[in-house]
Amino acid sequence: MPELPEVQTVVNYLTKHIVGKSILSINSPNKYTRVFGSCTLNECNRFLLKKHIENIRRRGKYIIFDLNQGHLLYHLRMTGKLILQLPKAEDIKYVSAKLTFDDNSELFFKDVRKFGRIYFCNNLDWLEDKLGIEPLSKEFTSDYLFYHLQKKNRQIKPLLLDQSFIAGLGNIYVDEALWYAGIHPLSIASTISNKQSKKLHEGIQSVLLNAIAAKGTTIINFSYGDNDSGNYKEKLKIFGKENRPCPGCGNPIKKIKVAQRGTHFCPKCQLI
Ligand SMILES: [Zn+2]
Repeated sequence: MPELPEVQTVVNYLTKHIVGKSILSINSPNKYTRVFGSCTLNECNRFLLKKHIENIRRRGKYIIFDLNQGHLLYHLRMTGKLILQLPKAEDIKYVSAKLTFDDNSELFFKDVRKFGRIYFCNNLDWLEDKLGIEPLSKEFTSDYLFYHLQKKNRQIKPLLLDQSFIAGLGNIYVDEALWYAGIHPLSIASTISNKQSKKLHEGIQSVLLNAIAAKGTTIINFSYGDNDSGNYKEKLKIFGKENRPCPGCGNPIKKIKVAQRGTHFCPKCQLI
């Protein structure tokens, strides 16, 4: 699933290409209108007609188009892609939504597994109610993290995956950040020391910033633009490296299940 760096990569790409465009219409080439939630296609069109895109940004794993009035949001989930051109004509069967702009250019929402969603709204209060702090914002300080960890008697990995705690982290970058900080994924948040918490804060931010600079991690599904891949996979320290030597100590990396997610860690560097 695309996480913060991959979503940011898509936002950066789209910003260059479609900010300023006016929307003529939206349709669903494969008729998968559940992509719009409870909104009918007519309602979507009424909402979007003649609106233009003033800005594109990210909040958590959501892509937000700020319109001159209201917002259009995409969540890519597992396999959603926002592309300006379809690589193959027959891929239209995977396109749940297509925006047409007044210069006749188009934006396709291609989603093979169909878990992605599109939202239309006049304000973003519902989103703010759902999402926790942005890990790259100036409000996310190491003091903030330590203060909030101390109040949680939950295992650290599921806590960091919880979008209402910190928005945008997912399986890959949580494993990488916990390794960086030397924290076991099953550690109870409230038992993490101030020193470890500082290291975790540093790990979260450096892993995310480096992954954004590499345009995300492509493992199976992620691509952006005209099928470009992210390069962060080469820089991963432990994710996807079960039984390979830990870059810190040389011992084999272990893989376990935590909160139903495949979780990588070094049993020597990351003690409970
Ligand atoms: Zn190690």
